[in-house]
Amino acid sequence: MTVRRHATPPRRPHRVARHIVTPYLILAVGWIVVSDWLLFRDAPASGAATAPSMLKGLLFVAVTATLLYLLVYRYAATTERLHRELAASESRFRLALERAPVGVTVQDRELTYVWAYHTPFEGPDASIVGRRDEDLFDVEDAALLRAVKKEVLREGRALHTVVSLRIRGEPRHFDLTVSPVMDVRDGTIGVACAAADVTDLKRTEQALRAGETRLRAVGEIAQAILRARSPESIAQAVVGHVRGLTSAARCCVLLYDFEDDSAEVLAVDADRPTRLAAGTRRSLRTMGGREAVRAHETIEIGDSSTASYPPPLVAAWHEEGLAACVIVPLDAEGERIGALSLSFGVGEPLRPRDVDVAREASQLVAIALRQAALQRRVQDYTVELEARVRERTAALTESNTELEAYTYSVSHDLRAPLRAIIGFAAAMNEDRGATLDETNRDYLAQIIRGAEQMDALIKDLLTLSRLRQEEHAIDLVDSEGIVRETLAEMAAETSQRNATIEVEYPLPRVLANRTLLRQAVRNLVGNATKFVAPGVAPRVRIFAESRDDRFRFWVEDNGIGIAPADQERIFVPFERLHGVERYAGTGIGLAIVRKAVLNMGGAVGVESQPGGGSRFWFELFAVPPL
Ligand code: ADP
Repeated sequence: MTVRRHATPPRRPHRVARHIVTPYLILAVGWIVVSDWLLFRDAPASGAATAPSMLKGLLFVAVTATLLYLLVYRYAATTERLHRELAASESRFRLALERAPVGVTVQDRELTYVWAYHTPFEGPDASIVGRRDEDLFDVEDAALLRAVKKEVLREGRALHTVVSLRIRGEPRHFDLTVSPVMDVRDGTIGVACAAADVTDLKRTEQALRAGETRLRAVGEIAQAILRARSPESIAQAVVGHVRGLTSAARCCVLLYDFEDDSAEVLAVDADRPTRLAAGTRRSLRTMGGREAVRAHETIEIGDSSTASYPPPLVAAWHEEGLAACVIVPLDAEGERIGALSLSFGVGEPLRPRDVDVAREASQLVAIALRQAALQRRVQDYTVELEARVRERTAALTESNTELEAYTYSVSHDLRAPLRAIIGFAAAMNEDRGATLDETNRDYLAQIIRGAEQMDALIKDLLTLSRLRQEEHAIDLVDSEGIVRETLAEMAAETSQRNATIEVEYPLPRVLANRTLLRQAVRNLVGNATKFVAPGVAPRVRIFAESRDDRFRFWVEDNGIGIAPADQERIFVPFERLHGVERYAGTGIGLAIVRKAVLNMGGAVGVESQPGGGSRFWFELFAVPPL
């Protein structure tokens, strides 16, 4: 850089004034004194006039010297101020230019450089002075610059443009402002050029644009993958898109099968006939072997067309007019599952951008293929599971049906001989009871009791079996009517137990089955009057309460109560808390209640404490208002 500094800074104004006025004073005073002395010497008679004339002269010199001093002082002071302002302005200008990556040049009308600052050329800036654009740039760049500058000279106004110029063989971008240099007398006398090097900015911009394009490409691939379902369609969508986004002549996805030592071509897209076809397999040995395939990173083969001994794969490419290639591994969750391969035609270079697209696509496709494989596995498993469930259900239904039929027929067939035993034993007791001794009468009574117990058991089993086997229509039912009927049917039993039953009418209409509801009420009321302490008269209270979309029916008693630990199991068939000698029963009553209520879509439960009575409840759906 060359900056011309101000050669001589102005001297202090007083000193300047002194320097000018002192010689004047000496000269003027000397002149007056010498001239008056000569006058006096030649004409002594004029002596009287000489003295005042000298005085006048000296006075004049004093006045003019003062005026001169003031004038010079003012001039020098102004000059000094201007000089300081100029220096400050120049230093600001220098500072701005030094910090900014801007070069400035000035050329005359013939476009010869006359001044330069901060130029990108080798050597000092001054070295380009006297040269022209043709001496500094390529022919085309020089022609371009001259065209711009000539237009500025012709039009007399500034032009702004971005140009690409080769500097020392390297292309660089400049933001150029060319302005006319004007002179008051001669008009446009040249051009001034301010050039900012924007190469880095431009490169960043290009990188950003490339990034954006890649992002869009990745987005397109991701969308295509999302639309695809099977691994084949995922791979097909990817190869199509990747080929469209790159200059590849052929793109394919391979899936490795390490057990089989082979790779399956999952999808191919090519702009020419190719021997690779989707669905075909090739040995991993042709690809360098299992271990090599497992371990490789991205493989980039530049131009293989010039290789003298091409390996088998490369030889195959040559036959298809392919040369360069990039193979990106497909890794999912740390496992090598395949590769994405892009091949390029002979003479087509392997661009870094294409490699980037392949890399990004490979990540997407690897994840998508893994997902698809998992999904397929889940689907297969679901199908298998469904088939297994169907098989098991069929087997279960069959064995259930068999079991139900068996229970039903057994129960049914068992009752006939039992009834015969009870009938004949009763008849025998009636006919011959009086003739039998105490022991034999007791035996007979035990036969009858045992047979009756067994009959009750079979009857309950039959009921439970029917509940499990048969479908029961659910209808709008008036629970009050059913409770009344059931209690009427149980009147003999109730009075025999000396029980009081209190019902809080009205009772609601609910969705139920008449038979099932009757069975539930009968068993609950029967138990409530049965399980009381000896000597206690049973008191039962029946009522219903509304709970959201249901009604809860309560059967409360003053019986012996049930320990919390037993409250669940008493609903299981044959679970009894007392011996038959103490409280008669089969242990199936509550199982019937539970099954009946469940069949009607309801629920059942109990609240109780030993010695504190029990509160059995069941819930049924309320009828929606008409
Ligand atoms: P069963 O009444 O024939 O014994 P359940 O299935 O009806 O059979 O009842 C099972 C058991 O639950 C009964 O043996 C009894 O121990 C207990 N239980 C049922 N209801 C009551 C009740 N209201 N109070 C006390 N215990 C009861």
